[in-house]
Amino acid sequence: MLGGKGANLAEMTNLGLPVPPGFTITTEACKVYLETGSEPAELRDEVGAHLAALEERMGKKLGQADGPLLVSVRSGAKFSMPGMMDTVLNIGLSDASVAGLAGQAGDERFAWDSYRRLIQMFGKTVLGIDGDLFEEAIEEAKEAKGVAVDVDLGAEDLRGLVERFKGIVREETGRSFPQDPREQMDLAVRAVFDSWNTERARLYRRQERIPGDLGTAVNICSMVFGNLGPDSGTGVAFTRDPASGQQGVYGDYLQNAQGEDVVAGIRNTVPLAELERLDRPSYQQLMQIMETLETHYKDLCDIEFTIERGKLWMLQTRVGKRTAGAAFRIATQLVDQGLIDEAEALQRVNGAQLAQLMFPRFDESAPSELLGRGIAASPGAAVGKAVFDSYTAVKWSRSGEKVILIRRETNPDDLNGMIAAEGILTSRGGKTSHAAVVARGMGKTCVCGAEELEVDTKKRRLTATSPDGKGRIVVEEGDTVSIDGSTGQVHLGEVPVVPSPVVEYFEGRMHAGAEDADDLVRAVHRIMAYADRVRRLRVRANADNAQDAARARRFGAQGIGLCRTEHMFLGERRELVERLILADTDAEREDALEALLPLQRADFVELFEAMDGLPVTVRLLDPPLHEFLPDITELSVRVALAESRRDANENDLRLLQAVHKLHEQNPMLGLRGVRLGLVIPGLFAMQVRAIAEAAAERRTASGDPRAEIMIPLVGTVQELEFVREEAGRVITEAEAASGQDLKLTIGTMIELPRAALTAAQIAEAAEFFSFGTNDLTQTVWGFSRDDVEASFFTAYLEKGIFGVSPFETIDRDGVGSLVRHAVEAGRATRPGIKLGVCGEHGGDPESVHFFHEVGLDYVSCSPFRIPVARLEAGRAAAESLGSDSR
Ligand code: PEP
Ligand code: MG
Repeated sequence: MLGGKGANLAEMTNLGLPVPPGFTITTEACKVYLETGSEPAELRDEVGAHLAALEERMGKKLGQADGPLLVSVRSGAKFSMPGMMDTVLNIGLSDASVAGLAGQAGDERFAWDSYRRLIQMFGKTVLGIDGDLFEEAIEEAKEAKGVAVDVDLGAEDLRGLVERFKGIVREETGRSFPQDPREQMDLAVRAVFDSWNTERARLYRRQERIPGDLGTAVNICSMVFGNLGPDSGTGVAFTRDPASGQQGVYGDYLQNAQGEDVVAGIRNTVPLAELERLDRPSYQQLMQIMETLETHYKDLCDIEFTIERGKLWMLQTRVGKRTAGAAFRIATQLVDQGLIDEAEALQRVNGAQLAQLMFPRFDESAPSELLGRGIAASPGAAVGKAVFDSYTAVKWSRSGEKVILIRRETNPDDLNGMIAAEGILTSRGGKTSHAAVVARGMGKTCVCGAEELEVDTKKRRLTATSPDGKGRIVVEEGDTVSIDGSTGQVHLGEVPVVPSPVVEYFEGRMHAGAEDADDLVRAVHRIMAYADRVRRLRVRANADNAQDAARARRFGAQGIGLCRTEHMFLGERRELVERLILADTDAEREDALEALLPLQRADFVELFEAMDGLPVTVRLLDPPLHEFLPDITELSVRVALAESRRDANENDLRLLQAVHKLHEQNPMLGLRGVRLGLVIPGLFAMQVRAIAEAAAERRTASGDPRAEIMIPLVGTVQELEFVREEAGRVITEAEAASGQDLKLTIGTMIELPRAALTAAQIAEAAEFFSFGTNDLTQTVWGFSRDDVEASFFTAYLEKGIFGVSPFETIDRDGVGSLVRHAVEAGRATRPGIKLGVCGEHGGDPESVHFFHEVGLDYVSCSPFRIPVARLEAGRAAAESLGSDSR
C-alpha cells in the first residue's frame, strides 16, 4: 500500500538512517481516485493532520514567508516504473516565500532558481503545459544575456524568468500559478494519481506485466537541496555492480545539482569514488549506510542520495535491478556470505534470466570495425540497422527489420522504440541513466554514454573518429551497426556471434570446476545444482531424433516426453507415405507400410539408444494426411498445365484426386490423431510394431529401452480402447518373436476438452496422461493455433484482454482448470498414473510453476529450454517449501 518507494523510506527511517521527514499517501487513495474520479472524502483531513505533524517536526510551515518548509511530491507504485510517473519538487514556494528561502539559504540565486524549477515542473506535469515553452524561455534568457549555460544566469535573470514562466502559465491555462502552498500540494498529488494512467505508463505496465489496477502511492517529503553550492550534490549508488555483481563502489555523483539531473543523464556525472575526495565524511557515512542496507535487505540495493551542505540524506533505496549474469553471481555470493540460504538463492534468479544468458555473444576473433566505446549498461549482442528516433524504430521493426535505436539520451517517450529495437545506444548518460535502467529491466542490450560518438538525431546520423584519429566515419540511418552490451563496444556492420559460455557449460564443453571457468559459469552451475536438488518435477525433452535427444540429455533431460513421429515421415520418405495414401487395395497399402516399417524401426533404435535407461514417449502419427501431400493449389496448376499440353501424368492425377478427397475446411479439427489411426488400417499397428521391434533389438544389445506409446487427440475412452487392443496384439507378437518382456506402456495425450472432462474414464485405458496444452488451448478457447497470433492477438494484448498469449503461458483459469480436473480424475481412477505435459507450456517459466502446483510428475519441452525448466521447477519447489515452513 505504501508503494516501493514509500515502504523503503519507512524501512530506512526505522533503521535510523537519515531520511528527510515526510509521509506517504497509500495506493488505496489512488485506487478510489481512479475508480470514482475524485479523492476519497477523508484524504484532505488526513493529509492536513500529517502535514501539521511534519510542520511541527520541522519547526516551519509549508510555504511560510520567512523560511518556508518545501516538500517534494513523488509517485511510487508497488513495482518500480522508472521515469514513468510524475514528480514535483519545491512545492510550497510562492511570491511570498521566495525571499524567505533566499534568506534561509543565504543565496538569492538559488531561491529564484528553485522557484523557476517549481513553476516549470508544476506547469508541465500538473497543468499539462508543453515543456518546450519553458525550455524556449530559458534559451531566450540565455541569449539575451549572451551566456551558454544555465548556471551563468544570475538571480536577477532567474527572477525575470519566473515572471516569464508565470506569464506562460496564465497564457496557457487562463489562470495564475497557484500561490496557496496547500493548493499546490493537492494539485500535485492529483497529478501523480493521474500519471498512473498516462499512455507511457500503461505501455510500460503491459510490457512488464504489471497489473493495471494497483495504483500509485504518493510520497511527500521535506525537500533537501543538492544544489546549494560545491559542498552539496546528489548521486545514485549501487551496493554492488548491477552489471557484473562484483562488490565495490558503484555509482555516479553530480556536484551542486538536484536529483533529476542525474537520472536524466543530461549532465555528466563523476564516478562515486570521487566523492571520497570531495567530501570524505559523507562518503564514509554513505559506505556505512550501504553496508547496513545490504545486510538488512540481504540483496543488492540501489540508492539515491543528496548531500546538502555536507549533510547526507537518503532519498530512496530499493532492491536494485541487475543483469541476468549479476543475478546469478550475486545469489551465490550472498549464500557464501551466509546472508541467504540455497532456497532463497533460487528465488533471486529466474528462467528468463537464464534464457538470456544462453544467447550468443559477439565473436571476439572476427574482424570488425570499432566505431567507439560506451558504458556496458545491459549485456547481450545486438545487430541491426541504425535508427535515430523511436517512431522509425517501431515502423521498421513492424516491417521485419532489426533495428538499433540510437539517441543522445532516452526519455520515457522513447519506450515504444526501445521495445521495438534489438538494442539501444546512447551517447550521453551513465549506468543509471534512463536508457540503462529501462534496458536492463527489459533484458535488452544497451550501450550508453558513448561520448566519442556524435549523435545528430535531426540529420539522422552518427559520426565517429576513424581508428587512425584522422578521418570521420559517418553512420547514416539504415546502416548496420553491432553493439555489445557486455563490453560497451560499438562496431560498424554486422559482427558474427558465438555461443554463450553458459551454453558451452550445458553442452559439457566447459566445466564449472575448471581453473579457467568463468565465475558466471560457476554461479550457474551452483544454482542449477540447488534447483535439481529440490525440484519434484522431472524434466523431459520434446525430441524426435538421436541428435536432439543427445543434446537434451546433456542439458539434463530425464527422458523424452514427446517424440513426434510425423517428422519421421518427411523428406525422402514422403513418397512412401504418398503410396500409402494412394493405395487402392489392401495389398498396395500393406506394401507401403511394409516399406515404412524398417525405416521407423531404425529411427527408434537410435532414439532409444540415445536415451538408454530413460523413458521415451513415442506419439503415434498425429497430423492430417494432406500435410504429407503436395499443396492443392500448386498441384492443380501443375495438372491443369499438363492437361493443356495433353501430357498429364497418371500419378499426378491420382494425387490430385486424393488431395481433393482429403481436403478439409478445418483440418485441425478433422481427420488427425487417433481418428487417423482408426480409419487407415494398419498405420498405427506398423508404428507400434516398429517401436516394439526396436525395443527388442536394444534389449538384445543389452540396452535398457523404456518406450511409452502415446495416442494423440483422444476424445473418448472408446477410441483408446480400440487402439490398445490392436497395439496389445502387435506387442504380444513382438514379445513372442523376441522372447523378451518389452515392458511397453500405453497412454494418451489429453488435448481435447472432452478428454479432460472424461479423464476418469480415459484413465481406465491409459497408463499415463500427457497434457497437450497446445491443442487444449486451441480447443478450449476456440483459437486456431496457426492463425490467431498473427491475426488479432496484438489487438487483444493492447486492449489488455490478456497480458500474455495463452499459447505462451498457460491460462490457469480456463485451460488450467481442465488440467487440474483431469489430474484429479485420472489419479482417482488409477492412483499410480504417470502425468506430464508436452505442450509448449512445458518450457515456460510461469507455466512450470502451475504444473508443479497441480502435481504433475514431469514437464517436457524443447531441448534448449530444458535448463530453464529445471531451474523453474526448482524455484517452484523451493517456493512451496518456503510457504510450507511459514
Ligand atoms: C499439443 O497439442 O500440446 C502437443 C504437444 O501436440 P502438437 O503440438 O504436436 O499438436
Ligand atoms: Mg497436439
